[in-house]
Amino acid sequence: MAKQQALEKDVNSFEDLRKEIIGAGLCGRCGGCASFCSADEMHALGFDRSEGPKLVAEDNCLKCGICYLICPQIKALDAEVREKFGWQPPIGIHSKMVSACTTEPKVSEVCTDGGVVTSLLRHALKKRLIQGALVSKRMGPFSRQPFLATNPDELIEAAGTHFDEVQHLGEFGKGYSTYSPTIQEIKKIDQLRLDKIALVGTPCQIYTVRKMQVLNIVPADSIAFTIGLFCMENFTFDSKAVAALEKKLGVKLGDIAKLNIKDDVILTTADGQVHHVPFDAVDEIARPACMACPDFANDFADISVGGLGSPDGYTSTVIRTSLGQKFYNGAKQDRVLKELRLPSKEKARLHRTELMAKITAFTRRKKARARATLARIKQVG
Ligand SMILES: Cc1cc2nc3c(=O)[nH]c(=O)nc-3n(C[C@H](O)[C@H](O)[C@H](O)COP(=O)(O)OP(=O)(O)OC[C@H]3O[C@@H](n4cnc5c(N)ncnc54)[C@H](O)[C@@H]3O)c2cc1C
Repeated sequence: MAKQQALEKDVNSFEDLRKEIIGAGLCGRCGGCASFCSADEMHALGFDRSEGPKLVAEDNCLKCGICYLICPQIKALDAEVREKFGWQPPIGIHSKMVSACTTEPKVSEVCTDGGVVTSLLRHALKKRLIQGALVSKRMGPFSRQPFLATNPDELIEAAGTHFDEVQHLGEFGKGYSTYSPTIQEIKKIDQLRLDKIALVGTPCQIYTVRKMQVLNIVPADSIAFTIGLFCMENFTFDSKAVAALEKKLGVKLGDIAKLNIKDDVILTTADGQVHHVPFDAVDEIARPACMACPDFANDFADISVGGLGSPDGYTSTVIRTSLGQKFYNGAKQDRVLKELRLPSKEKARLHRTELMAKITAFTRRKKARARATLARIKQVG
């Protein structure tokens, strides 16, 4: 029904997507439009990660509008998504905000911040709340591939941003991207006949999932739990940009052993040196699509997480929905997760206020950047 109403309201097609998004340089190449095309079996749309989507058999296009509506850059379903998921300003609904960390040594050895994501999912799998989790496994210093983990140990492989071996960049081909094409993988959930899957994603990915749920696109109903990462941007760069980047950052990219993003971009080299790089310094390698994205705190996830605002070794955890509460409370009760201990109630209250203030400030900053990007594009025509 929701799908029908949305389609009747707005029957833009791939041609509109080409003009408004692809032509404006805002396509994030998530592959969602081609993967969930209603004329998929007739191969109406083609998709290539380096070139993005294109209409390959125009006569086969059903002009149903799905490709247009599910694109994360299209805001046509904003009101429906906000209503369905109870969005409230300024960062979406939330019932609790806390700095937490794992108690599992094998998770804390490999995790990005406090290992909340990995331990929450491991616990949910062990308790059979989910059958699997669509996460992103590291393939090299900067690249990730979507990966459906169906046992708790497979989640360890996908945790963190430590690189087991520092590798020469030349070994990874000519293009690098921190973006992991998770949306395309959702299709496989249906083929595997799984109906209780968790998904970890950036704000654009969770937003796409929520739009698919509004539109009743199969198998979005099988995504039973979402963990959203805070996100300023993903990075894409080619081998040509590497030398310029290394000069600017004063770090050999091949020496980076850990990449983390909190208040800024944190690069740790194999010799243990930590370099803090402000976002402005790396904006030129941010994916153009990210510069137009207004969502920092992953407003529509069940639980959102980031490093921002928490001490090292902790994950800032925003519990939003009742499902988020159920998963988080279960893991906490079973002592898989623990919260940052502060010496007094007053200090704890202050910490929560500071956490909220930081997340809100980054949200405002990202929204302002998106507005400026879209205004610039409009001006250029
Ligand atoms: C591209 C990107 C940008 C981010 N930007 C910020 C930021 O600006 N500020 C901030 O505070 N936090 C940011 N984060 C979140 C932060 O880096 C941590 O992921 C988060 O704090 C969770 O830490 P953890 O130790 O609990 O997670 P872990 O237990 O280490 O688990 C990390 C999970 O993230 C998944 N993952 C890793 N890379 C990707 C990817 N590229 N796409 C989708 N999923 C992925 C892994 O599969 C794993 O399930 C960003 C994360 C990413 C991937």
